[in-house]
Amino acid sequence: MVWAQNALSTDWSIQHGLTVRPSSSFIPGEVDKSGVLATTAPVTLFPSPFPESCFRQGHFLQTTYNELYAAISNDEVWIEEIMKGLIEVDDFIENLWKVHQSVKEEGYVQQLSLGLFRSDYMLHVPSSHELLSLRQVEFNTISSSFGGLSVLVASLHTHLLTFADPSAHLAYPDHPLFEAREAGSAKSNSQALPSDASVNVPPINDAVQVLQTGLSAAHEAYASSKSEPKLPLCVLFLVQDNERNIFDQLALSSTLKFPVFRLLTSQILSHTSIDSDNHLRPLVYTPPSSPATRFEVTTIYLRALYAPSEYTSAESWSARLHLERSAAIKCPSVLSQLAGCKKVQQVLTSTSPDHVRRFLPDASQSTLSSLRSTFAPQYDLDPDSEGLAIALDESRAANHVLKPQREGGGNNIYRTAIPGFLKTLPSREHYRSYILMELIHPPAEAKNTVLRSDGTVVSGNVISELGIFGACLWRQGERAGDDDTRSGFEILHNEGGGYLMRTKGKDSDEGGVAAGFSCLDSVLLY
Ligand code: ADP
Ligand code: MG
Ligand code: MG
Repeated sequence: MVWAQNALSTDWSIQHGLTVRPSSSFIPGEVDKSGVLATTAPVTLFPSPFPESCFRQGHFLQTTYNELYAAISNDEVWIEEIMKGLIEVDDFIENLWKVHQSVKEEGYVQQLSLGLFRSDYMLHVPSSHELLSLRQVEFNTISSSFGGLSVLVASLHTHLLTFADPSAHLAYPDHPLFEAREAGSAKSNSQALPSDASVNVPPINDAVQVLQTGLSAAHEAYASSKSEPKLPLCVLFLVQDNERNIFDQLALSSTLKFPVFRLLTSQILSHTSIDSDNHLRPLVYTPPSSPATRFEVTTIYLRALYAPSEYTSAESWSARLHLERSAAIKCPSVLSQLAGCKKVQQVLTSTSPDHVRRFLPDASQSTLSSLRSTFAPQYDLDPDSEGLAIALDESRAANHVLKPQREGGGNNIYRTAIPGFLKTLPSREHYRSYILMELIHPPAEAKNTVLRSDGTVVSGNVISELGIFGACLWRQGERAGDDDTRSGFEILHNEGGGYLMRTKGKDSDEGGVAAGFSCLDSVLLY
């Protein structure tokens, strides 16, 4: 019996929950679509080679990036300055800002905030053929997904490297890291490959542990029930209707040591209440299965509510306000969600004023330069700006991507489409809701083989994006003025680790797995 990677991969994925709910186009009409089916998540059949120095740099920087975004979230005045320009031209940002303003007026009753972050990078090959470097694509502060499934992909690849017989089917990618295996496969014929200690496997992926430890830190920091009489405590995972990526979420929630409930965003107002008798506003969750038992929510983890399409009515905004007013720890708070705007990432690339230095007063010079070295050039599109000149000139725009203040993939405008797109906007004022970013140029020669959810196998040139996870719990402080934004601000938990490698066909611009552009991968370090 010979085992090709794709057959092994499919069975292993189903056995271990490396799965997603199938898209509706996959499901025969007569099957109940309410959640009885699962299929394999799209994966590569081989890990992708990745320079160890860049991998380590991403891990090294994560706690500093966590602190940076915690400190930004703590500085409401600085965020407001940035949001002012966006609010006039972006309804979604305006509505988020209004939620924050309303809660601020009545007084935030929870000073703790949790961030489960993911910093995304690509390798960049400068045109001058200098060394490869790590460049940040974006920093995510809301619904950073795929920690659960990416841990499984690393295990899947380790399994395939050990047991699959490529002579049966698919050749290893053309890379020195795979040469020993290629040689082994020629000899082994129908035998499983002998495990060879000199041959690399993907590094252990700690993503689940990092995210779970963050959630546990928040749950514990909430301390005790604020209800009268006291209620048992729980964590809420706030999820979308028809979520296909449920198994990624279950990989985080199912082994936590306290009660975790999944709540649909459409059920926030019907299944939770805020105790209005005292100013602590505990958020009480009533499980529909046993209305007699009630729980007090310590932490709300949002795997939803990041896209305008999720706010279908005024009620959706009331629901978001309801959560934000409560005493539960938000992951993220509205301010922290706004801190993750692409606009903030563009402003951070400025060196005068040096915002990064101001937000990270204790960081060493070398850490700051390493962090800055991950920034790609980014521009605003203000009148008469350098950014606008580039964006309106087709040949210069060709090396850039235009990004709105949105999450979840599929929102960007690329290259020569940029000037024409800008001309379709209602007015020049609307340019402000976008930022322009120089394209990152990943190595052109990378190859891999993708196994899609429908069983199709495709080999070819690929581009990969590496995400590093981070967890940070902090206490909001007062903003004391321009020189000291940190009075009372305190970081209680800060950890980085675990990774998400996503790989897509070389000619696809966008990169999201959930959005259908790329697939899950792991790394082989060299
Ligand atoms: P989102 O929050 O929607 O995921 P991203 O900034 O990550 O937005 O952009 C989506 C995708 O676009 C990325 O996954 C990546 O594939 C591609 N992309 C974004 N910025 C760049 C860039 N500067 N160079 C090359 N590709 C980019
Ligand atoms: Mg994003
Ligand atoms: Mg992204």
